[in-house]
Amino acid sequence: MGGTLRGEEADEFMAPNGAWEIDGEPYVLALGSRFRWFRSRIVGGRTNHWGRVALRFSAMDFKPRSPDGVGDDWPISYEELAPYYDKVESYIGVFGSKENIASSPDGIFQPPPLNRCTETILKKACDKVKVLCVPARMAIITQPLNGRPACHYCGQCSRGCKSASNFSSIQVLIPPALATGHLAMITNAMAREILVGKNGEAEAVSYIDRTTKAEKQVRARSFVVAASTCESRACC
Ligand code: SF4
Repeated sequence: MGGTLRGEEADEFMAPNGAWEIDGEPYVLALGSRFRWFRSRIVGGRTNHWGRVALRFSAMDFKPRSPDGVGDDWPISYEELAPYYDKVESYIGVFGSKENIASSPDGIFQPPPLNRCTETILKKACDKVKVLCVPARMAIITQPLNGRPACHYCGQCSRGCKSASNFSSIQVLIPPALATGHLAMITNAMAREILVGKNGEAEAVSYIDRTTKAEKQVRARSFVVAASTCESRACC
């Protein structure tokens, strides 16, 4: 089995080299702090090693203020976004089961894998005490899709899936986008601000070229902010 990266036991199977410590890392820790945050400054970002749990937001996630007065309602509803969830799930491949759970809407699912022994026992116990127990919804294919073979259950997902049976943007989205000839990929670029025009609409992304430290801008009609908890990526 693999050796650890920089002595960190939890990292031994992680695909992104660098793990918790990245050379040139701009973040520092307060003295005595043990807070650590896994950053993946690589093409494909966290999609290289995420857990592949792919849940939809529900109607109540989009409108939390209306029912209980807390938080803010989004300007769009679940119903408006649902067709796009359909498209994404159909393209990347997500397994799951239709359960009609209000807080976790059903999607376009491939069949879930059969339960393992422990899951079978757990399911029986949950049924006995009437606790809902359903298969996860995960971006792993159990049937071939767009030239990608179904998962063969080798269990090495965190190292990256050689057969591209789980979803990562580097294996599933970027190759076909590059093949169109219309994708320009800019790496070593830290997005710093979305610039807004006089009409209040986003019109450019300002980013810092990590190699030259120069500030550059990209103008576009549409922007996607792929937000993580501690930092974001912007695509246009
Ligand atoms: S084929 Fe292996 S690495 Fe790929 S998704 Fe299945 S278990 Fe994970």
